[in-house]
Amino acid sequence: PLTLSIETQFCVGREGWSGEPTRRQRRGIAGDGMDVPWLLVAHGSVTALVVVSFLCGQWPIFEGTFVQSINHFLTSGAYRHFLRLVQAACGTGARDLVLGVEQYCCDRPNPILQVLYVAIIGGTYFIIVQSSFKYIPGYYVSVLHRYLSIVVVSIGAILFVLTSFSDPGTVTSENVSQYVSAYPFDNIIYVEKECSTCRITRPARAKHCRICNRCVARFDHHCGWMVLLFAA
Ligand SMILES: [Zn+2]
Ligand SMILES: [Zn+2]
Repeated sequence: PLTLSIETQFCVGREGWSGEPTRRQRRGIAGDGMDVPWLLVAHGSVTALVVVSFLCGQWPIFEGTFVQSINHFLTSGAYRHFLRLVQAACGTGARDLVLGVEQYCCDRPNPILQVLYVAIIGGTYFIIVQSSFKYIPGYYVSVLHRYLSIVVVSIGAILFVLTSFSDPGTVTSENVSQYVSAYPFDNIIYVEKECSTCRITRPARAKHCRICNRCVARFDHHCGWMVLLFAA
C-alpha cells in the first residue's frame, strides 16, 4: 500500500508540472484581462480614497475638491447628519442623550479606554496561553518562556497602574509659586497670565486641561488611555 501511495502521488505531481495546462491556467498565462479581480481593485481604491481624504483632506492642494468634501463628511458631516436623523426619528431628548454620551466619552475623564486596554492585554495573553503554551517547552523554546511571559505582562500591568494613579503635576494655589520659580516667564512665548477657570497664575509651560478641569505644569497632552496628562 505504501508503494502504491508514493506512486499515485508521483503521478499526480508529474501531471501537475508537465501535463497539459488547464483552461484556467492558459487564460492566466495569456492574460486576456478576464481575470482582473475587479472587486479587489474597487475595494482597494475606495479604501485608499477614504484614508487619503481622512488624513490629508484639509491640505491646501485639496481645497474645493471632492477629497475635501469627503474629509468634511467623515470628520463632522456624518455625525451632524446622524444627530439630525436621531432628532427626526426620536425627538430632541434622544439627540441630547447622544450628545451627553459623546460628551462623557470624549470630553470628560472616564475609564472606558482603561477597561479596553486591560481587556486587550488580558484577552491577548489568554489567547496566547490557550494556543501557544502547548508548544513550550519545545525544540527551540525552553520552559523559561512560560514564566518570562507572565513576568513581562505583569511589569506592563504594574507600570500601567502606577502611571494611571500618579500625579501629572497639578498646579494648585498651594504649589503655584514653586512652579512659577521653577519655570520662569520669558515674556516672549510665556507671559504671566491667570487661568480663568482655576483663578491662579498659570506658570510658564503650564496649560489648563479642559477634560480634567485643572491646570497642569509642563502640559503635553491629555491621554485617554490612562486618564491623565503627560506633563511634568
Ligand atoms: Zn486631562
Ligand atoms: Zn486652570
